[in-house]
Amino acid sequence: MSCIFCQIANKEIPSNVVYETDSLTAFRDLNPQAPVHILIVPKTHITSINDINSDNSSIVAEIFEAINKIAEQEGIKETGYRVISNCGEDGCQSVKHLHFHLMGGKKLSETLS
Ligand code: 5GP
Ligand code: ZN
Repeated sequence: MSCIFCQIANKEIPSNVVYETDSLTAFRDLNPQAPVHILIVPKTHITSINDINSDNSSIVAEIFEAINKIAEQEGIKETGYRVISNCGEDGCQSVKHLHFHLMGGKKLSETLS
């Protein structure tokens, strides 16, 4: 399996892990766009939001519970943050394994496009 986020989740390649459970891993983005820029990924391979269904959607709730905890751990819970999941070509998704960007630690751009 050549998926880079599967390899990170399986500890086959190193990453800076900040939070982990049996079903998800959170690690610092290699090319941070904000003082806090963490990626949260399911340990099982899901390609994108397009592949979330009634069989696997519980991981999304788990990821948002984790985001809440990580925001507190990173000291950005009160100052605020942004969560983004890019999907497909127009969404500029470059890694084809579902992931959520958690960004904060500064005032982010007001525009999302
Ligand atoms: P996307 O553009 O798919 O929404 O986001 C992919 C993110 O993964 C980018 O922000 C990129 O910097 C990050 N990334 C890509 N490869 C690696 C890697 O090997 N390790 C880490 N920590 N981040 C990566
Ligand atoms: Zn994968």
